Amino acid sequence: MKSCEEINDQLSGYLDEELTQGDSQKVDVHLRGCPACQKILDEMRLLRNAVAGSQKVEKLQDDQWEKIVNDLPSKASAGTGWVLLIAGVLTLAGLGIWEFTVADDVSTGAKLGGGAVGFGLLLLFVSVLRQRLISWRTDKYKDIKY
Ligand SMILES: [Zn+2]
Repeated sequence: MKSCEEINDQLSGYLDEELTQGDSQKVDVHLRGCPACQKILDEMRLLRNAVAGSQKVEKLQDDQWEKIVNDLPSKASAGTGWVLLIAGVLTLAGLGIWEFTVADDVSTGAKLGGGAVGFGLLLLFVSVLRQRLISWRTDKYKDIKY
């Protein structure tokens, strides 16, 4: 009969089914007559199942996330995102221009420069908004056509 220490060294291989048939049978025989080693084996098995289980859960969550992302009406949310972004930038640019032009301690040059930057941003986003509107209208016409 093998000693507990020898068996403990082989328990990992025993769980992974990496032992030779002879060694595996020796472990089996020892475990049947040794509650202490049986307990260690049970704990190792629980730990492994917990690790395997947590990996399974992570995998599942990844799949679920992918599904959730795919299920989102991405076109609609992207459209809403654009509107919010443009509205926000327009508000900020407008406020910036207003603050700059009414502030007393800002030089006229800085006001002109800041105003130009603000207007540039404004025009940029108006043109982007226009393109979005045109593409939306084109989409609508496509829908009617089909
Ligand atoms: Zn033992």
